[in-house]
Amino acid sequence: MKIMPNRMDRGFFLYQNEFENKALQVLRSGRYILGNELHSFEEEFAAYTGAAHCVGLASGLDALWIAFRILGIGKGDEVIVQGNTYIASVMGITINGATPVFVEPDEYYNIDPDKIEEKITSKTKAILVVHLYGQAADMSSIMPIVRKYRLRLVEDCAQSHGACFEGKMTGTFGDIGCFSFYPSKNLGAFGDGGAIITNDETIANEVRIFRNYGSEKRYYNKVVGANSRLDELQAGLLRVRLSHLKELTEEKERICQRYLGELNNKCFQLPQIRSGATHVWHQFVIRCKDRERLIKYLDEKGVGTLIHYPIPPHLSDAYRYLGYKEGSFPITERYAKEVLSLPLYNGMSEEEQSYVIKRLNQFIL
Ligand SMILES: *Cc1c(COP(=O)(O)O)cnc(C)c1O
Repeated sequence: MKIMPNRMDRGFFLYQNEFENKALQVLRSGRYILGNELHSFEEEFAAYTGAAHCVGLASGLDALWIAFRILGIGKGDEVIVQGNTYIASVMGITINGATPVFVEPDEYYNIDPDKIEEKITSKTKAILVVHLYGQAADMSSIMPIVRKYRLRLVEDCAQSHGACFEGKMTGTFGDIGCFSFYPSKNLGAFGDGGAIITNDETIANEVRIFRNYGSEKRYYNKVVGANSRLDELQAGLLRVRLSHLKELTEEKERICQRYLGELNNKCFQLPQIRSGATHVWHQFVIRCKDRERLIKYLDEKGVGTLIHYPIPPHLSDAYRYLGYKEGSFPITERYAKEVLSLPLYNGMSEEEQSYVIKRLNQFIL
């Protein structure tokens, strides 16, 4: 049996007719940018998250850097972020000239709230909370810090569509929640896409203007903006996917509950779920001391895996200028060496799940 780490085609075939009908409808409409599909998607996604406003953008990275731009956070400012995130979180901070200040993760792979305060300086303007792998971060410990130091809070929800902390949706705790609709995300488009959500009407309006060359009225430009619009085709297809997101999330939950219940090999460590948090399982991430051997073994058995992420941002070439070296963030670096994402996707058959479980349980270190 051959199992790939992800199968995005399966997610398409689950609702093939609906996706194809919507695509044809948009193609035949003659309206491809800033039309009714986008409007409707924004309303529906805001309603889904419980936020007052949603503004569609061209990608998750755009959502992040535009969020910090609109909040006025740039050169000379510091933004706190966990060390073990996808590099786009960090780029969202540095594109505006601000400095990322890394904090080590906890055992749930999210920012360790106990290590935030020691990093706060007079330059700290914001915390970027990443709900990594689909599990909500410990917001009950983070929010008091945000309030105490009067910081801005931006949430990177690129992996956490629908995840909650104590019943409240990720993305609605702070000033701005940033989402990606990259095809492999839990709410995936068929190309690039992103959005911000916010309860602040002024922020929503400013982002709406910024994404369209800084113009509200055609040829009347208020600010130097960007071209970052979620197009009609993607918005329409996202509406179809969003209408099924509840069952898609439940399906992933069922698969991961099987993994949690049936994987019983002491050679690796299973993910843990924080009390108060929900996990929407963007990735099912295990940890193994001899990961390279596990990868090789699984590969020989036809089970594909991925690493999220092998090089922490502070050690990547792009951020050499920050001056960190190996050993700067030991927990972050250990996770980068040990984490492994198991095959997981909507439309994964029970046979495929059983095969992954069987092979993993047979691994001997
Ligand atoms: C995917 C992702 C992003 C970037 O989203 P794009 O749409 O690919 O630009 C940012 N942060 C995290 C945590 C992500 O997983």
